[in-house]
Parts: sequence; C-alpha cells; structure tokens
Amino acid sequence: MMIVTKKVIIVGGGPAGLTAALYLARFHVSVILADAGQSRAELIACSHNQPGCAGGISGPDLLRRMRNQVRQYGIELVQTDVRKIRNEEGRFVIQHGEVAIAAEAVLLATGTRDRRPSMPNEVHTAALENGTLRYCPICDGYEVTDKAVIVVGHGPRLLGEARFLRSFSSRVTVASESGNLGLSPAQYRQLAELGVEVVDVPIVDYAAGSDFMDIGFADRVRRFDTLYVVMGSDAQSSLGAAAGAQTTPEGCLVVDRHQRTTVQGLYAAGDVTEGLDQIAVAIGQASIAATAIRNDLCSENPLLRQE
Ligand SMILES: Cc1cc2nc3c(=O)[nH]c(=O)nc-3n(C[C@H](O)[C@H](O)[C@H](O)COP(=O)(O)OP(=O)(O)OC[C@H]3O[C@@H](n4cnc5c(N)ncnc54)[C@H](O)[C@@H]3O)c2cc1C
Repeated sequence: MMIVTKKVIIVGGGPAGLTAALYLARFHVSVILADAGQSRAELIACSHNQPGCAGGISGPDLLRRMRNQVRQYGIELVQTDVRKIRNEEGRFVIQHGEVAIAAEAVLLATGTRDRRPSMPNEVHTAALENGTLRYCPICDGYEVTDKAVIVVGHGPRLLGEARFLRSFSSRVTVASESGNLGLSPAQYRQLAELGVEVVDVPIVDYAAGSDFMDIGFADRVRRFDTLYVVMGSDAQSSLGAAAGAQTTPEGCLVVDRHQRTTVQGLYAAGDVTEGLDQIAVAIGQASIAATAIRNDLCSENPLLRQE
C-alpha cells in the first residue's frame, strides 16, 4: 500500500478547512486537505455579510476563490469522504482508496448539516436560490426587513428565532410541520406580546414562487415572502468522536481556546465546534487552529523545513 506522509491532514474543505490550509502552507507546514464537497457555503446564493465584499458574494464563488488561493501554494485537495482516522504508532492515518495518508496532526473542519423541511430537493434548491427559503437570520435577516416572514420549527429555538426576526419585520408568523409548536403557555404569551402570529395547524405542502413561498396548511394556503427553517442541525463530529474527542451534549466537538480537541494532535474549527455558525467565525477559528498546530509541531523542533 502506498503511504503519503504530511505534517497535517485537514478534513473538510469549507471556509474553515481552506483557511487553515492557507495559513499552514504559508507557515511551510506540509498539508493535505480531504473534502467530501458538501460545504454549507455551497448553499449560499448571495452573502452580504462578508467584510470587503460590497455587493455580496455567492458561497460557491467564495469557495472557488479560496480553493484557487490555496492551490497557489501547491496544496493537494483530495475529493474523498473520510470514514475513519486511525492512530498508528503515534501518527494519524486516513485512507483514500489504496493510498494511506499519515500525519502528526489532524484538523477537523467538517461542519454541520441543517435539518431540512419536508419539501422536494428541487423546490428546496430553487427557493434557496431566490431567497424565499432561508436558514440563518444572522446572515440574512437584513434582506427580509419589513417582509412577511414565516418561521417553521419547534420549541424554544422557534421562539428565539421569531424574537430575533421581530426586530427586522412586524410581520412574523410561527408554525410547525406537525402543528405542535412545542411551546409553554408562557412562551405563547411572549409571542403574543411581540405581535407574532401563531398558526398551530399542520403544514402539508410548500410551493415556492420566484418571490413568494406558499405554505399549504391543513385548512388553507397562506403566502409569505420568506420561510425561515428552525429545525436544528447535526454537527459532523462523528470522526472526531470515534477518535476519542469529547463532544458537547449537542454533538459539537469540544475545543480549548487554541482549537485543540481533548485528543492530543487533533484540532477542530468552524461549524463542527460550538458557537456562531458563520463564515467569519470559521475563518477566525481556523487561523487560530493553524497557528496552534504550527506552534505545537515546533515545540520540540523549531525547524519545520529540511535544511
Ligand atoms: C443557506 C445558508 C446561508 C448561509 N449564509 C451565510 C452568510 O451569508 N454568511 C455567513 O457568514 N454564513 C452563512 N452561512 C453559514 C456558513 O455557510 C457556515 O458557517 C460555513 O460554511 C461553515 O464553514 P465550515 O468550514 O465550518 O463548514 P462547511 O462549509 O460546512 O464545510 C465542511 C466541509 O467538510 C466536509 N466533510 C464533512 N465530513 C467529512 C468527511 N468525513 N470527510 C471529508 N469531508 C468531510 C463537507 O463535505 C464540507 O465540504 C449560511 C449557511 C446556509 C446553509
């Protein structure tokens, strides 16, 4: 079996993984990046909260630029779904077909996955593209200012998101697919005080137009400008957990302030850790992780390069 040896393996090629690759390459640390190609950023039609990108930038465009930037340093980007991280004689090893890739450190930048509403994929894709379906009011609440917004989800998160969106629009409605919102009487009262409309009838259908989202309730169809989904997400932490890293009750990888997990040599950055799921945060954490990895690798031998 062929073995490729690097200093660092990065798993995940979204904003976090690509940022770490850039930093490590510029520290003269040999690195390989393995990515399954499912970045949440691929779903961003146009982001308006990227500093320096006046007019907005699409997620695919941002990722393309970031990939091109790391390729300038000769970093290998391998398209693969990493199933396991083995620990062999103090080194981490991942398998890519017939090739084993070994490294002294691994950065997990594997992200999270949003739970989706019950709608066909083609409806989901078209609605994300035209902004009638959204997931992140921190990212794009500004874009729905004064619009008719429906928030679909369950429990305290639904209440929290409705409260958040209420400062963008006076026309906020909450509902859930089952018709059961999972809220206490006190939480219903809070929604009433905020002027948020509550619909506790099950949703049976979604139909997206070019600038509206029709929600088919069991008893009627209602038209909104935008649907926000609050169904939770699943941190992609299983690789790290299987390698022994501690996770939070929500399934995120636990890290210290240098992005080290609880397993020596294993680091994590971006949405897979607990915190604000934002590109700026993923980039910031990745720069901290890359610097910690570099410094930890150099703690015994400050000369990274062969001289
Ligand atoms: C619709 C939408 C709109 C958004 N808009 C904005 C916005 O405007 N502004 C903003 O700041 N944020 C926005 N976000 C959030 C932003 O996309 C994420 O915070 C960001 O992508 C997180 O980066 P990441 O690198 O941590 O994870 P990701 O970008 O999700 O990348 C993780 C990568 O790891 C790969 N991976 C996972 N497991 C494995 C494995 N086992 N082997 C190999 N590869 C693996 C995945 O395939 C993926 O490519 C939005 C998100 C969504 C869904």
